[in-house]
Order: sequence, then structure tokens, then C-alpha cells
Amino acid sequence: MNNRVINFGAGPAMLPDSVLQRAAVEMLNWRGTGMSAMEIGHRSPLFQNFLAEVNAKFRKLLAIPINYKILFLPGGGKGQFAAVPMNLLPLGASADYLDTGVWSNLAIEEAQQYGKINIVASGAESHYYSVPERKTWKLNPQAAYFYYCPNETIAGVQIHSIPQVDVPLVADLTSCLGSSSLDMSRFGVIFAGAQKNLGQAGVTVVIVRDDLLNQAQAITPSILDYTQQVNNHSCVNTPPTYAIYIFDLMLDWLAEQGGVSAIEKSNRYKAKMLYAYIDESNFYRNLVDPTYRSIMNISLTLPTEALTQQFLATATNHGFVGLKGHKKIGGIRVSLYNPITESMVVKLVEVMRSFAKTG
Ligand code: PMP
Repeated sequence: MNNRVINFGAGPAMLPDSVLQRAAVEMLNWRGTGMSAMEIGHRSPLFQNFLAEVNAKFRKLLAIPINYKILFLPGGGKGQFAAVPMNLLPLGASADYLDTGVWSNLAIEEAQQYGKINIVASGAESHYYSVPERKTWKLNPQAAYFYYCPNETIAGVQIHSIPQVDVPLVADLTSCLGSSSLDMSRFGVIFAGAQKNLGQAGVTVVIVRDDLLNQAQAITPSILDYTQQVNNHSCVNTPPTYAIYIFDLMLDWLAEQGGVSAIEKSNRYKAKMLYAYIDESNFYRNLVDPTYRSIMNISLTLPTEALTQQFLATATNHGFVGLKGHKKIGGIRVSLYNPITESMVVKLVEVMRSFAKTG
């Protein structure tokens, strides 16, 4: 794998070499079937048993309590922006949303199609580099649920403690699920596309507390209806079978790393190393309020646009890809998802350091 680059992109993200190698080895004969995992009928006992196995493995790894159902659905994070209100917002009711950046903003826009949305507070004034203080939130005690995005992938803004609210808590964990331990009992529903910390695009993990089922709006398409998906073991239609297979390989890899608490420790260490260098550099700057700095996505600015472009070219020469900032904010963005190792971050910091001196 000499040509392999280090992909610091925000997703689809890189996968560990060992996971790709295992997928390659199993490509022509998965579990003695003489087929790849993508060629197996989803209703076959083999695949149904496999789904149950992945479900149990994931539940154990993330310590998900028994009163929650785990679903593997198509439609991505964005599909869930619609699915959440369709499943949890009865006609005439209202839901609370915290606006902290591009992704929660898009979730608000989508949810407004299906019901009344109360924006409890917005980070827009800080250009989404900070989060409004809890005491300023205008909560509705009758809200059907409270929705937020714990890690805003674009600016790299992370809410590190779970908000205390009196209604079911819903969270978009697309860019952080599986990167750190999770107290699921605090949430009503969470969802995440797998393409960042847990595998490839195509499968979205949805975890729903039992008491929140059976209240979908009548217009809800069956593939987005949590209750129908629970009753059909995520097989209302053909599920993204190969993406679920890669997800399973990632769960095995995660277990080999020592599980979620070990990967969390490493993720925190990687981010600490990078922020420490940025802060001492007097060259790179991270504009995020230090309280909300993300451990997954770190956005940076350089003194000029020309230097930014030069840095990206230098990075490419060193075999680093995916560092260009999101088009909405420019600059550089470093994503440090699970498969990025500590030594990869050391290499990046070395290149950043030498560029700041000579670049
Ligand atoms: N939420 C967050 C936090 C994201 O980062 C993304 C994708 N980058 C999405 C939702 C949308 O996910 P998808 O493209 O799978 O619909």
C-alpha cells in the first residue's frame, strides 16, 4: 500500500488499512458462501442472522440499553432531518431546535416542512464559532422534543456536555458517533451516517427509545418510519448491505483498539496535540470559542489566501489529502476521525511547523 495517502477529509473519511485488507480478502468468499457480502440476498437467513449479530455487537460496544432499538437505514443524515419530525412531531405540536451551524440549520429548514419549529437560540451572531449560553435558550416546556447537533462538522464546534432538558433529546451524531463513549440513556433518538467514524457512506444508524415509537405522521414514507423499520428489522426495503458489512468490520476494528473508551482517549490526545501546536504557532488560527473546540474537526485559517493555497499544495506533496476547508468558510480543516492515528497527526504537525517557518 505504498501509494496510500493520509485522508484528513471530513467524510467520506479514510478507513483503516486492516479493514480494507480484510474486505479485499473476503471479497470473493465471505463466510464460506463463495460470494461477497454485497451479493447475498437481504432476506436470506444468513444475512438476517448477520444483521442481528451486528446489532448485538454495536449495542455491546456502545453500551446501548435494552429499551432502545437500533436501525440501519438508507437516506443519510439528511434523510433523518425529515425522519425526526415525521416520527416524533405529532400534527399541531412544536419541537425545539438549537441552531449551532450549517447542519443544525439544515435540519431546522427540513423540519419546518413537517411541523412547528421553535429555534431556542442561535449561534449565528458568533458566525457559528460559539454556542449561545444555556441560560439564554428559550425552551418550550411542551415541546415534543429538543434537537441539537453535538458536533458541527464544518466549523468544528462541539458541545461537550449533554444538555439537560425535560423533553426527549434528539441528536445528530453524524460526525462523532463511535468516537467517544455515549450515555445513550440521556437521549430519546440519535442518528449518524457511518461515513466518518464508523465506515462507509450508505448506512445511517438510528437509535430510538421504545416509548417514542408508534407516533409517526401519516405522510411518513415507510422507509423513514421508525416503527415499520423496527418491525421489519431494518428491511422495509433492501438495506445498504455492503455498507452494513463494512460497518461490522469497523466494529471489530474498534474492539481491537480497546473499544470506545480507548479510541476516545486517543482522539482527545490527537486533538490536543494539534490545538497545542496551532496555539503556539502564531501562524495558524482556530477561530472557535475554546469551550466548544471540536475533537473531530479542526478548522484553521492562515494569514493569507495565497498561503492557504501554498499550504494545500505542500500538504499534497506530503501525501495528505482532504485538508481544504468547507466552501462556506474556506481555510483549512483537519478531520481526526477514528482511523487517523496519533503518528499521522505528528506527521501533519511537522509539515505545518516547517511550512510556517519557510512557507
Ligand atoms: N449532519 C452532520 C453533522 C454532517 O456532518 C453531515 C454530513 N457531513 C450530515 C448531517 C449529512 O449527512 P449525509 O450527507 O449522510 O446526508
